[in-house]
Amino acid sequence: MQESEHPARWWHALEDGRIQCDLCPRDCKLHEGQRGMCFVRQRTGDRMVLTTHGRSSGFCVDPIEKKPLAHFHPGSSVLSFGTAGCNLACRFCQNWDISKSRNTGSRRRADARTAERGCRATSTPGQEVSVAAAAR
Ligand code: SF4
Repeated sequence: MQESEHPARWWHALEDGRIQCDLCPRDCKLHEGQRGMCFVRQRTGDRMVLTTHGRSSGFCVDPIEKKPLAHFHPGSSVLSFGTAGCNLACRFCQNWDISKSRNTGSRRRADARTAERGCRATSTPGQEVSVAAAAR
């Protein structure tokens, strides 16, 4: 599957020719073709692109009680989805097969899935929150 080349925000050019990502504290400094630690942001030419824009590594309908929320639409369902990639490297990660995946996933839109399944909310577990921002 061809990866996205959606333009990324939150980066700047450095005097030494690299570009630096400003999205998370890792401050990745990239040469042509390199990816950040999160894997989902990549330098292509003189710009940063989002390789997972509009893609998901998986969808799952969960009971809302599975989420760390109290008294939020009790008895309803929530659509959980995420992208490949994470900027963390936790040794105990229970979602390592998603967070370290090199498969950027399908292009199915989450909002369409949410409506299809009658969910009242969406959730993006499986990676550090700035990676969710990175994919938008
Ligand atoms: S969001 Fe990704 S590319 Fe940007 S600094 Fe963090 S790990 Fe690096």
